[in-house]
Amino acid sequence: MNCRFCNNELTIEFIDLVNSPPSNSNLTKKELNEPEAYFPLKIFLCDKCFLVQIDEYKKSDEIFNEKYAYFSSFSKSWLEHSKKYVDMITKRLKLNENSFVVEIGSNDGYLLQYFKKLNIPCLGIEPTLNTAAVAKERGIDVIEDFFGVRMVKELSLNTKKPDLILGNNVLAHVPDIKDFVRGLKLYLGESGVITMEFPHLMQLIENNQFDTIYHEHFSYLSFLTIRSIFEAHELELFDVDQISTHGGSLRIYAKHKEDETKEKSRNVQDLLNLEISKKMNTIEYYKDFQKKANKIKYKLIEFLIKQKKENKKVIAYGAAAKGNTLLNYCGIKQDLIEIVVDISPYKQGKFLPGSHIPIVNESYIKEIKPDYIIILPWNIKDEIMKQLEYVNKWNCKFVIPIPKMEII
Ligand SMILES: [Zn+2]
Repeated sequence: MNCRFCNNELTIEFIDLVNSPPSNSNLTKKELNEPEAYFPLKIFLCDKCFLVQIDEYKKSDEIFNEKYAYFSSFSKSWLEHSKKYVDMITKRLKLNENSFVVEIGSNDGYLLQYFKKLNIPCLGIEPTLNTAAVAKERGIDVIEDFFGVRMVKELSLNTKKPDLILGNNVLAHVPDIKDFVRGLKLYLGESGVITMEFPHLMQLIENNQFDTIYHEHFSYLSFLTIRSIFEAHELELFDVDQISTHGGSLRIYAKHKEDETKEKSRNVQDLLNLEISKKMNTIEYYKDFQKKANKIKYKLIEFLIKQKKENKKVIAYGAAAKGNTLLNYCGIKQDLIEIVVDISPYKQGKFLPGSHIPIVNESYIKEIKPDYIIILPWNIKDEIMKQLEYVNKWNCKFVIPIPKMEII
């Protein structure tokens, strides 16, 4: 198999998480009696362009089907982050009622709702029908499709070209990253701007975030590599922000190479220098990741077995994709973690793939009075701990397994 970007043969294994069911496919009670599909989960490093990537991929239409239950609007901190972004970018690009904004992966309209409030015309592109339906209920126009060259070419010729194309956590989730970036080049207005947010590979490696690896996540990106991919498509990165979402992400700003109306920020060279100083352009940097992941695995299993022997009650919070990778790689089932609590009504009553742990609503916490709550979406641990403050009454503790086992 060859690199998705530079076509170099992939020979270096970054991490092998063996196999796992698709992370976002929660199961119904009936489905528990049916065979479950597991797919290999092995990640490679390209030693030429340093794109870290999944080896084989399922057809994306199999993964992003009706069952895809992630609704962005259920996270309060994510909504706040999105609103802040809309205010910032509106000011920076001087967007107004004559502008046109397109969001790729617009989900349930969690972000575009803020542009709509400002009377800035916008359009969402979203392949999952159930989330797109919610966005439409909010009065947001949505094209229900996968973004790429084909989709852009199918738009009618007199369609307005966007002043801003944005995508949060989509770049790393597209199977064909070259086609995606080529689509951006084709669609963007002459002096338009693209912003894309994605988890920073540097944070993944330095903070042991192996649980952010799952089938829907095809590429793991450094700034160096994404810059090469954009440059190969005549798009120039002229600014970058390092932001805290998803355990440390990058927000890149791109423009047409030919567009000379924008100044290049110093952030670009600073971040390139940082990555080079850490040797992200050498194989050495990527070694030993498996060992680090295994260390977390053994610690978590050790902890759970100890609690089991002492008859303590352990539950988990947050039925998110990253939790599934962790639970499945550690081989944890319902005997070690009784239930997982999630506020999304779309998930309650279902079961986590692989581990088959039941997903329940928050009222169970007061009923069960657990001794420990494992926070699976560690990236929003502060928000969750605040929300569950009342568990202090019976001395319940929080467990955060990543970046290193922590009991609070
Ligand atoms: Zn490559």
